[in-house]
Amino acid sequence: MCGIVGYIGHREAYPIILKGLKRLEYRGYDSAGIALFDGKDLKLSKTKGKVADLQERLENEISTSGNLGIGHTRWATHGVPNDVNSHPHYSNSGDLVIIHNGIIENYESLKKELIKRGYTFTSDTDTEVLVNLIEDVMKSDNLKLGKAVQIALNQVVGAYAISVFDKNKPNEIVVARLGSPLAIGVGEDEFFIASDASPFIEYTNNAIYLEDEEMAIVRLGKKVKIRKIKDDSLVAPYIQELQLNLEQIEKGGYEHFMLKEIYEQPNAIKDTYRGRLLASQGIIKMSGIDDHLEKFTNADRIIVVACGTSWHAGLVSEYIFEDLARIPVEVEYASEFRYRNPIITENDVVIAISQSGETADTLAAIKLAKSKGAFVFGVCNVVGSSIARETHAGAYTHAGPEIGVASTKAFTTQITVLTLIALKLAKIKGTISNSDYHYQLQELELIPEKVVEALKADDHIKKIADTYKSVSNFLYLGRGYNFPVALEGALKLKEISYIHAEGYPAAEMKHGPIALIDENMPIVVIATKKGHYEKVVSNIQEIKSRKGKIIGIVTEGDVQVKELADHVIEIPETLESLSPLLTTIPLQLLSYYIAVLLDKNVDQPRNLAKSVTVE
Ligand code: GLU
Repeated sequence: MCGIVGYIGHREAYPIILKGLKRLEYRGYDSAGIALFDGKDLKLSKTKGKVADLQERLENEISTSGNLGIGHTRWATHGVPNDVNSHPHYSNSGDLVIIHNGIIENYESLKKELIKRGYTFTSDTDTEVLVNLIEDVMKSDNLKLGKAVQIALNQVVGAYAISVFDKNKPNEIVVARLGSPLAIGVGEDEFFIASDASPFIEYTNNAIYLEDEEMAIVRLGKKVKIRKIKDDSLVAPYIQELQLNLEQIEKGGYEHFMLKEIYEQPNAIKDTYRGRLLASQGIIKMSGIDDHLEKFTNADRIIVVACGTSWHAGLVSEYIFEDLARIPVEVEYASEFRYRNPIITENDVVIAISQSGETADTLAAIKLAKSKGAFVFGVCNVVGSSIARETHAGAYTHAGPEIGVASTKAFTTQITVLTLIALKLAKIKGTISNSDYHYQLQELELIPEKVVEALKADDHIKKIADTYKSVSNFLYLGRGYNFPVALEGALKLKEISYIHAEGYPAAEMKHGPIALIDENMPIVVIATKKGHYEKVVSNIQEIKSRKGKIIGIVTEGDVQVKELADHVIEIPETLESLSPLLTTIPLQLLSYYIAVLLDKNVDQPRNLAKSVTVE
């Protein structure tokens, strides 16, 4: 994971890098560090902790001047998060300095070799091995940095986005990527390097996204030179004009990105279906599907591969695809799928879901599915991401940047895209009646305003959060379409409040979790009118008999659950198939307020990172 930033040009590098690291902190926040070159000396400061800790330390430790620099915010994979293991890392001579996102899998054998050759190591990281390998190649054969990086990377197994420079040649930065994202911002006589475009968006809209197995020499006064790491062939740089604006990546008056993103959902869902859903005409337009229609209509089954919250969106889609389009669906954890020799055929359509489009396990699952001849369709949020490029076709969610580590609007917009696909296929396959199809489209169009309604329970939810903030366990129950929402609600709570929570299909409760229920156990039950309502009410009775505390998520005007539950949170009425888009809203707010009341770091929960680019 981790965030990397670099600058070379005519401005002071430090403020650009510092601000950039703050924007990238969602990617990792175990430690941070910056190296600057001021025209004479290379200066470096790094520390365990957040970018704010680095700022305090660095400004006391070194002078911040210099027009060349690199910075890193770490999500540790090799070596504990301490000062020494923080990036940047020097080579033994002190000439080279590197930042790295990813894992060098064969670092141990490389390290042994380098030790034999007299190299010493101060950190436990794989990264320090890489910088010394580059130095060793450079010195042994008297090579330039770019060539040495290329040769070294050809000896490396693993994943990386790196940025490295030589203090003796301070007019260039060498960058490379395999499996971790890397963008180059191209300005007037200046260049920016970053894991995503957010650190440089106020300086330039022009960006080059490196592809896997590419490296680039970013040299002042020259055009960016890109080569394939393996065969040395030159690649013509493709400069994209970015649409992102600064406001989209700032908090806009909200206390946390997570809350901002929860509140952005009405617009995010609208942005997802804008131009695709023409409800009054009964049309769903999706070029990624239209261009490959036969693949979908002839598919024996759909296999969804994803991780975390995206996997939950995938589970919701299993109900939608099977119910509406009558296509069998299997939903797989990408990390399991990729290693278990799954049966995949050319008649399978694989749908890969990932907010960032960089999730390492999902990417590997895509590659595996492609190698077996399956058609692979991506659903991601980040435009131009690796998954978007690696898949045969896809649909963006257009949710806008999601910075809060706990995913919210990504989930609802993924479900929106998957619903559009399922409805489109259902219509084409004739598995849905005309009237039902039109009704579904109209109801989907109304979802954003119903989300606005659902958000009005905010204060009420805050009070419920206050009542239960000190418990150690939570149970979340749902049935049918809302079983995955129960899983997602539990995940949200775990992620940001560190309270243990489990999601279960409501009826499954009696096969185990019921043993946990006593007067101290809050149980969130999704009990909306459509979807096994009576059955869920019976489950609520069973909880009540065991004195559990019931928080019911109910349809507006509900009477029955209100009588039984300790608290109810109302959501507007909608179709069962669309209900996850509404039932998930109170669960997001509940976990958000519990975490805030417990004084947890909502946007950057411990041990997590936003985009999981390691397996
Ligand atoms: N493997 C490197 C480390 O543990 C980089 C991890 C990262 O991507 O932050 O230091």
